[in-house]
Amino acid sequence: MKILIIYAHPEPQSMNGALLSIAMETLTAVGHEVKISDLYAMQFNPVSDRSNFTTVNDPLFFKQQQEEAYASQTEGFANFIEQEQQKVEWCDLMIWQFPLWWFSVPAILKGWVDRVFAMGRFYKNGHIYENGIFQGKKALLSLTTGGPEANYISERYGDLDVILHSLQRGILEFTGFSVLRPHVIYGTEKQSAAELTLRIEEWKNRLLNVFEEDPIAVGNYQG
Ligand SMILES: Cc1cc2nc3c(=O)[nH]c(=O)nc-3n(C[C@H](O)[C@H](O)[C@H](O)COP(=O)(O)OP(=O)(O)OC[C@H]3O[C@@H](n4cnc5c(N)ncnc54)[C@H](O)[C@@H]3O)c2cc1C
Repeated sequence: MKILIIYAHPEPQSMNGALLSIAMETLTAVGHEVKISDLYAMQFNPVSDRSNFTTVNDPLFFKQQQEEAYASQTEGFANFIEQEQQKVEWCDLMIWQFPLWWFSVPAILKGWVDRVFAMGRFYKNGHIYENGIFQGKKALLSLTTGGPEANYISERYGDLDVILHSLQRGILEFTGFSVLRPHVIYGTEKQSAAELTLRIEEWKNRLLNVFEEDPIAVGNYQG
């Protein structure tokens, strides 16, 4: 199968870097094709503006979705956006590997979505959710947190399924992806090296059977 990993961490020696490495190793060893977008290494610019496009629909007023729809009809995406779009279109499974930052993805990853997930190309009228363009593809969030699992309750930080809703429901399911259970390593910095080695092993084992998994219903996810 074809797997795209979007990796958003600035430090290759980080725990996220270790999770990326084991994922690449494990998935390729069992015969999958893997492509990576290492956003920091690519120095991906998260600022979305006219530089997303080689075409101009309205030179007087920049309305991003209108320019996206126009670029979708006229092959008008800048090359670096087009390449990312083609990777998403290519994959059967897309994994995002990231540390939870301010209850969300790092800005570089949010900016990647803002620029790459274009109207007309990745979604359009009548083509969202169950009619989404990426029906048949799967997506999986793999993330680490600083906060311990015990804090992710409604009385404290809030449930993680609520925190991840904007990503899983607002981006992934919106464009038609089926979402697999998120893979979460809580309290990363508080775990010993031995515990983290186990966490890496658990991720490896999950990936070995990832294509056997059923998607979750994001709205009803119980953890
Ligand atoms: C801007 C910002 C916002 C944040 N917001 C939140 C938030 O909203 N909620 C929250 O819970 N947290 C938050 N955090 C904390 C953040 O989520 C954690 O710092 C992050 O998830 C830890 O992952 P890491 O890859 O950076 O870990 P690292 O610091 O790289 O690693 C943790 C430990 O893993 C060890 N390690 C690395 N590789 C291996 C290996 N191969 N084998 C064994 N051990 C290894 C390292 O030596 C280190 O001791 C925030 C942090 C920042 C900077």
